[in-house]
Amino acid sequence: MFSPPPINNGIEVSGEYSLPIVILSIIIASLASFTAISMNERIQKNSFFHRNFWLVLASLAMGFGIWSMHFVGMSALSLPFMMHYDSLLTCLSIIPSVIASFLAFYIVNQKKRSITTYLLSGIFMGIGISTMHYTGMASMVMDAYYVYNPWIFITSIITAILVSFVALYIFSRQQRYAKNNYIKALTSAIMGLAVPSMHYIGMAGTSFYLPKQQVMTAGHHMNITLLITGVTIGITLLLGLLQLSSLVDRYVDFRVSHIDILTKLPNRRSFEKALNDEDVYRSIAVWNLHNLEKVNNDHGYHFGDEVIQYAANALHQLNIPLSELYRIDGNRLALLLQGKDRLNELQHAMKNISAKWNHPVIIQEKKILLQGVCAISTINDQQSQKRLFSDILAVLSSPGIQYKNEVIRFDPLIHTYSFEQEILNTIDQAMKNDDLFLVYQPKVNAGTHKIVGLEALIRWNHTEHGFLSPGVFIPILEQSHRISDVTNWVINKVCNQIKVWEEQNLPTYRIAINIPGEYVTSPRLLRTLKKALNRYSVNPSLVELEITETTVMESAESSMRAINTFREAGFSVALDDFGTGISSLSNLRQMPISTLKIDKSFVDEVPQSEKDSSILEAIIALGHSLNLNIVIEGVETKNQVDFLTSTSSLLSLQGYYFAKPMEPDEVMEWIKARNNE
Ligand code: C2E
Ligand code: MG
Ligand code: MG
Repeated sequence: MFSPPPINNGIEVSGEYSLPIVILSIIIASLASFTAISMNERIQKNSFFHRNFWLVLASLAMGFGIWSMHFVGMSALSLPFMMHYDSLLTCLSIIPSVIASFLAFYIVNQKKRSITTYLLSGIFMGIGISTMHYTGMASMVMDAYYVYNPWIFITSIITAILVSFVALYIFSRQQRYAKNNYIKALTSAIMGLAVPSMHYIGMAGTSFYLPKQQVMTAGHHMNITLLITGVTIGITLLLGLLQLSSLVDRYVDFRVSHIDILTKLPNRRSFEKALNDEDVYRSIAVWNLHNLEKVNNDHGYHFGDEVIQYAANALHQLNIPLSELYRIDGNRLALLLQGKDRLNELQHAMKNISAKWNHPVIIQEKKILLQGVCAISTINDQQSQKRLFSDILAVLSSPGIQYKNEVIRFDPLIHTYSFEQEILNTIDQAMKNDDLFLVYQPKVNAGTHKIVGLEALIRWNHTEHGFLSPGVFIPILEQSHRISDVTNWVINKVCNQIKVWEEQNLPTYRIAINIPGEYVTSPRLLRTLKKALNRYSVNPSLVELEITETTVMESAESSMRAINTFREAGFSVALDDFGTGISSLSNLRQMPISTLKIDKSFVDEVPQSEKDSSILEAIIALGHSLNLNIVIEGVETKNQVDFLTSTSSLLSLQGYYFAKPMEPDEVMEWIKARNNE
């Protein structure tokens, strides 16, 4: 293919390019890249579908794009002879481009990426594009003879590799800005250029020869049918894939956010939507299953799931007309009823369930006693539908519930609406409306006074009660097991904040997040953390988890195990409020923590109290000997700072002496001002 034709086999002929079709070919390649980039975003996110699903879609989009670009590019060239394509080779030529795209995207989506990663993926992609091109060329059937210039042949392949390398590098770097459509479009254009640049360089090195007599008679031919087929297939597939992915996305989004995966029932979000949007429901029943935790502990989570499904089925099979069943919490099922005056009917049905559950039921061949309580309530036409749920909460939080499957009807004289219930009723709204927000308190190094990190602390500007201190609402959320949702919210906010600061090219610091006791050992916590890191492209080393000493002491073994997994996942872990718990100092040795936060009460009387000063010095010495970072909380005076600095210049100090917790912009201003001092 590199040697010239036999002497009497013709004269070299040249073709003519149609500029609009050349541009069209570039647009096709860029469109394919855009589609592939969109699919790649899904690979990075923790999507409902396995990442390989998106990887395959991305490779198909890119592979088909490369392929259709080639054939449209070929159609842009009109040559003075007839030709057609061998269908088998034409079809086969798509394989290298799809496989190469798959390999390139697979490599570039690895967590750990280096320049070798990009080079390797560039090489795969470049070779894939070139193989596709030259296989496509080989599929041409014609009277003419063609020859490649070896240097241009090599240049075309090197170009494909180089431009692919640059494009994949930019593509991977821009992923954190993926929401920025301009950057995405620019990257697509660069990736889109990799394909045509190879193609047109390759074509520039291709010479066609025709027998003399044919040259005389030949006019220029352009294969329009082929062009139309190429474009149609390419565009249809690309748009089809785009459409499919967005449909899938919407479907998944809906499923995940509105349906409970286990019972397939609409979830709490749907429930709240129903209560807020439609004004048709007049009665409600909520079953609160009480002993699920014990069931989980005794028989495992899988069995716990079966129990919930059993309860959901039992309620479902009642087939109450004009009713809708929801799973509104891990252990709560709610039934909303339309129509007036149906409380007696509802009460009757619930009592039937109660009678059944008062005897052991058989689930998976095990006899088990369900322990729960059912709250029911109704409203008249003048009352707001939202009341239904607050009535239920009032019943469920009233004292004296025995969890013997009693059916309790809301009675305004008995079930008064308390502050606690209002907190619980408004917390979701507060998270959504940013009534709940985070402030950040800096920690500084005692020796250098440089900032070493921040702690995220929660605040609530309540619509009714004004500013509430976390000391007020956190215990309520903990008691009612709502604190994990709030912690998830905090985790996401913090990761988002880190990303925002990174994007503004502001310095990033490790941010500490307070993790409440009961949540520490839950597998949901690690899942949420990983998801949030992924979503905002944040490195785990920028997050510290603060766990109070009391928590760790309450369930030492499982907490230690949890802390170990956090450390393995790359997070720092701090033991908060150290000294307030009952742990013996020797316990510290076994704890896989990275940081010790000594409680404020140890510094309050320092340096005046000699006793307190010696205790503090002893704890600091112990912490150092265990190679732990030490943070002293609640530093308020210069005397304290001087004393602490003279004890150890390695300490980190946090307290009002340096700064109070501040809102994000304020913190950055504060840091800027300090750095300029
Ligand atoms: P903590 O984690 O020990 O946080 C330190 C508390 O000490 C913060 O109170 C902080 O504002 C306060 N503080 C810092 N420096 C000084 C000082 O020099 N003097 C005095 N008097 N206080 C100082 P805050 O923000 O009211 O938080 C209280 C507690 O509420 C926190 O104690 C933490 O246990 C909890 N909390 C705060 N935010 C969250 C959160 O997002 N999630 C969870 N689960 N708990 C949180
Ligand atoms: Mg803390
Ligand atoms: Mg603390």
